[in-house]
Amino acid sequence: MLTATLGYPRIGKKRELKKALESFWRGQSSEADLLKTQAELEEQNWQEQLQVGIDRIGVGDHSLYDHVLDWSCRLGIVPPRFSSLRGWQRYFTMARGKEGIPALEMTKWFDTNYHYLVPEIGTAWQDPDFSDFLSTVQRAQRLLGQRAVPIVLGPLTFLLLSKRELELGEAATRLTEGYVFLLQELQRLGVAEVQMHEPALVGSDADQYQDLYHKTYVRLAQVGVPLQLVTYFDDLGAAYTWVMQLPVAGISLDFTRGDNLTLLQKYGFPSDKQLGVGIVDARNIWRIQPGAVLKTIETIQSITTKIRLQPSASLQFVPYDVQLERNLPAPLRDVLSFAQQKLGELRWLADYLADRKTGQEQLQLIEQQWQAFAAFSPVNPAVRERLTHLSPADLERPLPYEKRKDLQPQLPLLPTTTIGSFPQTPAIRQLRVQYKRGEISQREYEQAIDAAIAECIRSQEEIGLDVLVHGEFERTDMVEFFGQQLQGFAFTEHGWVQSYGSRCVRPPIIYGDINRPQPMTLREFQVAQSLTPKIVKGMLTGPVTMLNWSFPRIDISRREQALQIALALREEVADLQAAGAKIIQIDEPALREGLPLKRERWGEYLTWAVDAFRLAAAVAQPETQIHTHMCYSEFGDIIEHIQRLDADVLSIENSRSNNATLLEIAEAGYKHQVGNGVYDVHSPAIPSVAQITTQLRLGVEKIPVQQIWVNPDCGLKTRQWEEVIPALQNMVRAAQKLRAELSGTN
Ligand code: GLN
Ligand code: ZN
Repeated sequence: MLTATLGYPRIGKKRELKKALESFWRGQSSEADLLKTQAELEEQNWQEQLQVGIDRIGVGDHSLYDHVLDWSCRLGIVPPRFSSLRGWQRYFTMARGKEGIPALEMTKWFDTNYHYLVPEIGTAWQDPDFSDFLSTVQRAQRLLGQRAVPIVLGPLTFLLLSKRELELGEAATRLTEGYVFLLQELQRLGVAEVQMHEPALVGSDADQYQDLYHKTYVRLAQVGVPLQLVTYFDDLGAAYTWVMQLPVAGISLDFTRGDNLTLLQKYGFPSDKQLGVGIVDARNIWRIQPGAVLKTIETIQSITTKIRLQPSASLQFVPYDVQLERNLPAPLRDVLSFAQQKLGELRWLADYLADRKTGQEQLQLIEQQWQAFAAFSPVNPAVRERLTHLSPADLERPLPYEKRKDLQPQLPLLPTTTIGSFPQTPAIRQLRVQYKRGEISQREYEQAIDAAIAECIRSQEEIGLDVLVHGEFERTDMVEFFGQQLQGFAFTEHGWVQSYGSRCVRPPIIYGDINRPQPMTLREFQVAQSLTPKIVKGMLTGPVTMLNWSFPRIDISRREQALQIALALREEVADLQAAGAKIIQIDEPALREGLPLKRERWGEYLTWAVDAFRLAAAVAQPETQIHTHMCYSEFGDIIEHIQRLDADVLSIENSRSNNATLLEIAEAGYKHQVGNGVYDVHSPAIPSVAQITTQLRLGVEKIPVQQIWVNPDCGLKTRQWEEVIPALQNMVRAAQKLRAELSGTN
């Protein structure tokens, strides 16, 4: 039985690509250095896969920023604003923008935490140029021979993810000719097959593009290279039957998400095609559970025997190698599987299925390791007990918004505040590192943090903000900080995955029941509040965001995990409130990201996600004002769920979307208060009073002024104090100006 891969991590085990990119951007290394690093990383990936004995190794997926951007460039889809630029300068300007030339828009790659750059398809295209891709394939062939299988982003996924000035059919016809040329070139190189990645086929709307897929793939088939049509992240749903008929040599399905197995059982699989069985989960870090996996494969084999085994998607969504982890407890580490371990699992599965004697020992070992883990992972009967007895009252604030709002802090019209974090200076980061390494005592650490809090409070008072924050100096990351204080979360040392470009994240691993042994944010809140008569907001990360930015466990549902985290946060809300917090913010920037790809499953997800938020928040007394914050979200299609969060104040991004977010909320008749994100924290530019005033006026026209708060659109941690102070001063001035105008006319 063959094994195949669909892509590998790109960033390097020691984040070599990140370092190489950042040094190149700073002008400290050459183009040649950068390309050399990339080639080395690619070659390591190939070697690793070769050594394990993978039969069809996906190649050409490596990227210096984003693979979708790579395909835009190769296909000649370069918007005119970049056309005066050349080479890598053009590439990185498309990725990151520069003075006067905005970058392509960046957005999430399906339901993953990877971000891609949205292609902009205008009317004028450049000639396609696949030379970089082709030379990579040739390099791979020299090492891997026939095992090297080019990975190509499929034309319809590319199109459906893009912004288009052209009509879809016309764009598809033109684009397909570029792909035909590419396939001809690959054929000339003698590749055995080509992977065409078409994850868009799992979207709920795939069915409406049936004719277009048919027409496109009929044309591509004419070239005569065997195509493996690769789908992942969900099942094919209603598209299953017609996808089976596309003129391709093989089709890959994801058997770790959605329910392709049922579709396969119901409709069968064409006997002339090879089925790529995505059986090793490329989106999570757990070892396979051999019993369940073998059973699935056997079921599949009873339907079709022409199969190959592979990860469910590219392995870019998991870190490289569990062996690099030194600090994880053994029972946990033994059941983890990163990219390299996943290759081993594929090989083992294929060998075991070929001859059940050879892999027997390994099978027993894996089973023992899972048993050892079961005995080790934290179980908290009290938490489980609470969750089985949840009642609707646990999710309900004691009074409805209309009644509680008058009991809550009375603030000036258009109250001003921030989203929580203030600049994380090198000194602050250094301080946390020193503390972590044990170079300074807890007392020294806390004294330094308290000094930063004091300085932050003083600045905010001076700026004249109405509601203050402590500044989040003790937090490395909004999820990690909380996870590290909760039982049930584990953290890796080297478990980096690419978020976008050179940016990587190290998602925590949820491996047991969640429990909060002690307060997590109380001390810093109290320090801050003791320094000022103004209100200081308590700042928490919401349950859904903590879940969505972690690798979840697989033995209980995501819903249960969100509710467990919510219970821990509920205790924190209660403690903050008891300590005098009049306002508590529970951030949920990742709420929308968790939406399932298929729309018919949105309702189910949003129901438990909103329940989890409510469970955390509902312990607040009517007098306590609950804020939430979501950046870069659209709300139009989920507004009733946003309303059901029942937060008193919802702060949103609004400056980058050109007021669209606020308009959506206004149109939906949102009755609670809205924090109007009046300037973009991701830009170093300092917004002027006039600019913010204009932004605020637009808000006041759409939503009653009593409902509006004034704040930046996200946290300020990536900015410099020199930028933050004048920006916030201008924001406060703009609010004061409008406030004066409005009360003058009243
Ligand atoms: N309170 C967080 C901060 O200010 C919110 C961050 C976010 O929305 N991503 O940093
Ligand atoms: Zn934000």
